[in-house]
Amino acid sequence: MRASFAVSSLVIATALSACQQRPEAVESETDPVTQPQVETRLADETWDRGAEEALRRLNLRAREGQARNVILFVADGMSIPTIAAARIYDGQTGGNTNGVENLLTFETFPNTALVRTYSTDSQVPDSANTATALMTGIKTRNGAISIGSQQGLEVCGDESIAPSTLAEIAEGRGLATGIVTTTRITHATPATTYAHSVSRQWEADGDLPADAVAAGCEDIAAQLLSFDHGDGIDVMMGGGRANFLPDDDGGRRQDGRNLVAEWVERGGVSVMDASAFRALDAGAEAPVLGLFSNSHLAFSADRNADEEPSLAEMTGFAIDRLSQDEDGYFLLVEAGRVDHAHHATNAYRALTDMQAFEAAIEAALARVDLDETLIVVTADHGHTMTFSGYPARGTSILGLVRRAVAGSIDGETALTLDRTGRPYTTLSYANGPNPRGQDDEALSEEEVLDPNYRQQATVALPSQTHSGDDVALFAAGARAHYFGGSMEQNTVFHLVTHALGWNEPAQDD
Ligand SMILES: [Mg+2]
Ligand SMILES: [Zn+2]
Repeated sequence: MRASFAVSSLVIATALSACQQRPEAVESETDPVTQPQVETRLADETWDRGAEEALRRLNLRAREGQARNVILFVADGMSIPTIAAARIYDGQTGGNTNGVENLLTFETFPNTALVRTYSTDSQVPDSANTATALMTGIKTRNGAISIGSQQGLEVCGDESIAPSTLAEIAEGRGLATGIVTTTRITHATPATTYAHSVSRQWEADGDLPADAVAAGCEDIAAQLLSFDHGDGIDVMMGGGRANFLPDDDGGRRQDGRNLVAEWVERGGVSVMDASAFRALDAGAEAPVLGLFSNSHLAFSADRNADEEPSLAEMTGFAIDRLSQDEDGYFLLVEAGRVDHAHHATNAYRALTDMQAFEAAIEAALARVDLDETLIVVTADHGHTMTFSGYPARGTSILGLVRRAVAGSIDGETALTLDRTGRPYTTLSYANGPNPRGQDDEALSEEEVLDPNYRQQATVALPSQTHSGDDVALFAAGARAHYFGGSMEQNTVFHLVTHALGWNEPAQDD
């Protein structure tokens, strides 16, 4: 959504009509504050906007009823600077040249929290332990998939000692479940919903070391097939086909199994391309496995719509399908490649994948009733991208830092130069594959606006790293008011179970 901020008189009616799409727009039962008495001497558009935003908060009312459905949106690696840059990029590419007043849809959600992401063995986490925290309610060590921090090979073949996952519990309680991602479905974030693995790397059987094979460990793809809670996960969509197919059939498996064929033999539906996906009947009951690429799906900027559905399309289908179940559903939606673009310090693809994430959230909001559905939007961890310098309003968020020329009222800007006399970009990274050297040529605007440009880094590393800073969480809908303050990442799991009413005595009716 590109929020419109027409200057309006400060009555709540206009404030609400300007934001009918906003998830927090719930009628207040108590007397709403409609007309502030505080006035200012200087009439100003920014005053109006601030006063309007304040009124929206004053008139918020919690949706107290328990959630029937929960949708957890995770943008992998969506640091807080990523949100700010994506908001501006989205505004600038949508015709709002400043971009700074734009809001991503989830930024209009009424409840937010800061989430502490550290793992049990590292200040800076990875995607395995952070997704484990969200999915199981415990923190674990880097690289571990839904197992305890002290657990090892003994969990292989004995799921009963591993922590339960939200998807397992939901299935056990009769809810429908789904997983949608732009990465391999066997990648760390989605894997934590259905698998328990000592290593995130064990995506297909050939990835297991000898001691893991000897201990009876199952690879992550095979665990998706052996998931036996409730009637199984109902919708699984993403990439990673090679981990399901034997090596003599275009896959990576060494054990000769064709997991897609096994899936179909027991009544599942499999789809491998966008046209088969678009022909699916959301009203049909058979579980759906969609594997649209051998490895990860394409970045949004590179996606061929004839080959791969978008994250928004997959999300829409998943909700249409899961909402057939009157017991409700749990759905994980992951924009998994914001992280990959950041690792390459290619801010362009991180921000365009954020737009695809935004579109998926809008697809969900168009389908759900927020009085019975909780939507949580968060990240697993941050990245080192910074948003700095003093770039003038209206300069490209992906461009060189150009400052406003003092005293100019017609928006004149001038390049900002570093101590060596060279320009630099607004977005840069603490480390990564394109370190800024003393002897580099001066950057040009054309060079840095190329979609394949890798932003510069301070420390030379082959791959830019995650960061240890807190991530943001945004919640809307049923019991969204449970989320707030500063919280441990695994607390999100616990609050989701409370929102779903799982901790309350069953009601006879
Ligand atoms: Mg991920
Ligand atoms: Zn990563």
